[in-house]
Amino acid sequence: MASKKNTIKLQFNSSRNLAPAPESKSVAKIADKYDLFINGKFEKPSSKKYFNTINPANEEKLSSIAEGNGADVNKAVVAARNAYEKIWKKTSAKERSKYIYRIARMIQERARELAVIETLDGGKSIRESRDFDVPTAANHFFYYAGWADKLEYAFPNRKPQSLGVAGQIIPWNFPLLMAAWKIAPALATGNTVVLKPAETTPLTALKLAEIIQEADLPPGVVNIITGAGATGAALVNHPDINKIAFTGSTDVGKIIQKAIAGTNKKATLELGGKAANIIFDDAPLDQAVEGVINGIFFNQGHVCCAGSRLFVQESVYKIVLQKLKDRMESLIVGDPLDKNTDIGAINSKQQLDVIQKYLKIGQQEGADMFQSSCNIPKKGFYCRPTIFTNVAQSNRIAQEEIFGPVLAIQTFRTEDEAIEKANNTPFGLSAGVWTDKGSKIFNMTSKLRAGVIWANTYNKFDPTSPFGGYKESGFGREGGLHGLEGYLKV
Ligand code: ADP
Repeated sequence: MASKKNTIKLQFNSSRNLAPAPESKSVAKIADKYDLFINGKFEKPSSKKYFNTINPANEEKLSSIAEGNGADVNKAVVAARNAYEKIWKKTSAKERSKYIYRIARMIQERARELAVIETLDGGKSIRESRDFDVPTAANHFFYYAGWADKLEYAFPNRKPQSLGVAGQIIPWNFPLLMAAWKIAPALATGNTVVLKPAETTPLTALKLAEIIQEADLPPGVVNIITGAGATGAALVNHPDINKIAFTGSTDVGKIIQKAIAGTNKKATLELGGKAANIIFDDAPLDQAVEGVINGIFFNQGHVCCAGSRLFVQESVYKIVLQKLKDRMESLIVGDPLDKNTDIGAINSKQQLDVIQKYLKIGQQEGADMFQSSCNIPKKGFYCRPTIFTNVAQSNRIAQEEIFGPVLAIQTFRTEDEAIEKANNTPFGLSAGVWTDKGSKIFNMTSKLRAGVIWANTYNKFDPTSPFGGYKESGFGREGGLHGLEGYLKV
């Protein structure tokens, strides 16, 4: 047994000494300055103000980005309204779908460039942006292109109609993919769009604006305005918006819900999470540990559905903990552009501060902290993969969303105890169950209060399946046939 463990350790250690394998930056064409994309053209902001977007891996400036104010938001909404009334509403569904297919294919053609820019701007590993973000973004456009002329089949006998202008606000964890999640179904259902990317990751949305321009989408059908919270608030409060689609923090989600209360604006809110991964003693343990690692550490834990709480059945707790620690030691934290990197940079200094605050809180609350011993670069924003054991249900690290590579581990004895503990959270976005028994999976999935539950896998996404939460994780579903409904009167 001991010698087996040593062999595994040895393999892991050697994998950390791999020669650097950086992806070339040469494909990434980033302009010095980006304006607002309104009515099919790039326009200077009325504020005349620009802010910097930086590479969180080395803190170097990548570009200056226009800061849209209320006047710019209004211009974009007017452009979207005109495009809706005069063009898009009258465009046949078949024609709409051709434009969406064209955008999908152009994303595929520029996949390498988009992946490198996503990694430079957001800090996520190139493996993640290349193998997940960009192909999944293209797949969303392909998938919804297919629905555009089949809406009557999606909602039989219900005459689905578009809403009008959709205001869409997205976060920094999956910048291009979130834009695709929001734009593709809106266009397929005949709506026009004003989209605001997050202030720390605007570049791939602006590249998407270039693609949309090249695809000859009629001017004003998609408008992309950059800026921070005030720009987003101006969009939410604009009287001529018919729908708000928001993905981001629960705090901002609550502000948005208050702002649109009493208006006719339809809304979908995809907010925070504190997902439970539950490992039973009959689970394939290596597979489960790999799923837990994938669920919380890859993408730096910057995932609303990150499995940030782990519940392990007491009888296998020790072995699971050891396997987790061994696997954590093998993870490579560092240059996101390096193809060997597992955990890239934290998206911003502000987010790193939040994570570090929670590391202190966890220790002050009496939990035991373990971090992998890897080196991290001196410049840039990085966090070692971290686990807390000896965690109580009431601890803030077990209740609040940290949005970083930090896992709170607890134990349980029975199925009922696991369900009770897992459901003891204000959130309800996702969960994971690891067991060999189908009956246990059915029991757990029917009792866990979460919008998405994975069994013996984690963080699997597909354009055909709906995604969304319960409780403070928001409402409405994105993806799949359900994702169409949020953009239609049915
Ligand atoms: P996170 O904590 O993940 O950064 P936020 O909710 O702060 O999430 O941000 C998600 C998106 O919401 C970003 O595009 C951000 O600029 C925008 N945003 C922030 N504050 C507001 C607001 N008051 N109204 C509308 N959008 C906002």
